[in-house]
Amino acid sequence: MNDRETSLQASGQEGRPLVLIVDDHPAQRKLFRLLVDNLAITADIVASCEEAVQALGARRYDLILMDWQMPEVDGLACTAMIRHKEREGTARTPIVAVTAHVLPGDREACLRAGMDDYLGKPFTVKELRGMIDRWTKQKLTNSQVEEAGRVS
Ligand SMILES: [Mg+2]
Repeated sequence: MNDRETSLQASGQEGRPLVLIVDDHPAQRKLFRLLVDNLAITADIVASCEEAVQALGARRYDLILMDWQMPEVDGLACTAMIRHKEREGTARTPIVAVTAHVLPGDREACLRAGMDDYLGKPFTVKELRGMIDRWTKQKLTNSQVEEAGRVS
């Protein structure tokens, strides 16, 4: 059974943000899978840009966590592809880079590629959870005006 089947089986808990996680490294995907409950998210975890684009064609996600360094299509190029497809009419999904690139200018490179934010590796669970909260609550603020008073 691959990562995606496993995560799809686990999905469907109500009220949790639906997050697409893209990372080519098996150990990193395993770590994310272990963290799903801790992060209070529902996640599909895929290994390549190609799989990510397929997943985006099938479901609407609240957030994408995107590895930068991947063979074939890297995170920056994949983000550009996703943003290009979104111009054809689907809604815009926030994309956060999760990357070991932590040099000056790397954050700007991610934003230029169409990402919304940046989390350097190694990160703590608290930092990752903060990032997820930040971008999924932003969506709540935008889409549920009557709830906005409860979201700062
Ligand atoms: Mg990688």
